[in-house]
Amino acid sequence: MSVSFPNSPLTVGPPRALLAGLYLLAVLLSGCRGTPKTFSVERPEVHNLKTDAFEIRSNFPIAQDAPLVRELLNLKASLQQTLQLPEQRDPVIVYLFSNEESYRRYMHNTWPSLPARRAYFVGTSRELSVYSYHSEFVEEDLRHEFTHGLLHASLNTVPLWLDEGLAEYFEVRGNQPGLPHTGHIQFLQQARSEGWTPSLYDLEHLTDFRRMTQREYAEAWGWVHFMLNSTPQARQVLVDYMAQLQKRSVASPLLPQLEQAVPTFFNDMTAHVGAMSSGVQTAGYEAR
Ligand SMILES: [Zn+2]
Repeated sequence: MSVSFPNSPLTVGPPRALLAGLYLLAVLLSGCRGTPKTFSVERPEVHNLKTDAFEIRSNFPIAQDAPLVRELLNLKASLQQTLQLPEQRDPVIVYLFSNEESYRRYMHNTWPSLPARRAYFVGTSRELSVYSYHSEFVEEDLRHEFTHGLLHASLNTVPLWLDEGLAEYFEVRGNQPGLPHTGHIQFLQQARSEGWTPSLYDLEHLTDFRRMTQREYAEAWGWVHFMLNSTPQARQVLVDYMAQLQKRSVASPLLPQLEQAVPTFFNDMTAHVGAMSSGVQTAGYEAR
């Protein structure tokens, strides 16, 4: 889940032009809020673990060599190598609450309009922040949100569908990136059997994450997985597109570029997901 507040009331200092934003949401928040309640419930600040890529602020100690820390550092290396990203400009601050209640209370008080989710990435002009809490899903959640953080720390803009597609892609744990996301494969195959067809055009026109259903998350993951794991031509389209996002403040559509390089992209993508589904059971996925 990724939210950018380029004009947020939390903003201090010059606007971060690079942050692609949910401007409507920012305007709504700015318009409906009086005195910000941001600090009526405290963020965790007692412990501060710093690396070159991120800081984890928590009210419980985390060892410098904890598996979670290693996992996020490995994720950064994997993301940069796969997408050929430049070095990140800013660190990502991870606020890791001790328990769900503290997290929920803080998030509700600070951004009352946001739907309740287990974790958020919030980009403001002041800070790239991840919010979550200690739970059985914490590694997966932090992989997802930290991916958002790294993308926004490295690129000038990130289209919503690609932001989420890449976060879903890299949240899957394993020895290498690109392992199948079982839930998404099952969901896409089920949707296909009910007559739905994927549309990168529709995905690219999404601007409000609150309108994204599991279908859009699954499809975004499917396009990313297809491009990174089918043919060198498809992979190059995405790598080249990431390079464009380093320079541009407004993203061009990816679809014409994919269509030109891989004219059979639609059939190839559906076949790619279909082939993965052969090794995946057809029931029992977990909705986020
Ligand atoms: Zn996300």
